[in-house]
Amino acid sequence: MKAIIALGSNLGDRFNYLQSAVEKINKIKYVEILKISSVYETVPVGGPVQDDYLNAVIQIESKLESEILLKQLQSIEIELDRVREEKWGPRTIDLDIVAIEDRQHNSPNLTIPHPLAHERCFVLIPWFEIDSTSVLVNKGIVANLISKLDCQELRINQQSLVNK
Ligand code: ADP
Ligand code: MG
Repeated sequence: MKAIIALGSNLGDRFNYLQSAVEKINKIKYVEILKISSVYETVPVGGPVQDDYLNAVIQIESKLESEILLKQLQSIEIELDRVREEKWGPRTIDLDIVAIEDRQHNSPNLTIPHPLAHERCFVLIPWFEIDSTSVLVNKGIVANLISKLDCQELRINQQSLVNK
């Protein structure tokens, strides 16, 4: 199944954390990275005052059950120095499952599609970049969702992530 994963970092060497996450995701058994968006610099939404984020989105092919995929991503977060403190506070790496094809999943630790994806420029813009026809279940075509938002604050970053 094809899935969309959102990556974010706003602590330490942000680009390096994103690149390391890409490499670790590609090493997960039964997961293969298909597409990687540009890196975007974004102003934090919600939470305390904190530094800007670098965000990107990847498309993967995954044969894993969704809860297992989440566990794999969470162990990568821990390997990459993530400390869970304040909700929505600064973090070295955040790996969220945005969507898995047109699947819906609701359990105590996993909601798919991600409940805030439709209102987040830093998810929708890079997602549109790698797949301009994508649709978010129950919310509509990604391009239309973007047109309802003000995504001016998103700046494209010159560094590119590589799939290695
Ligand atoms: P956030 O990503 O909202 O800033 P965290 O990364 O700390 O916050 O995640 C908090 C919890 O969100 C995780 O423990 C995880 O179980 C849950 N969660 C629910 N749905 C998802 C999803 N689609 N992707 C990632 N985590 C999710
Ligand atoms: Mg998260």
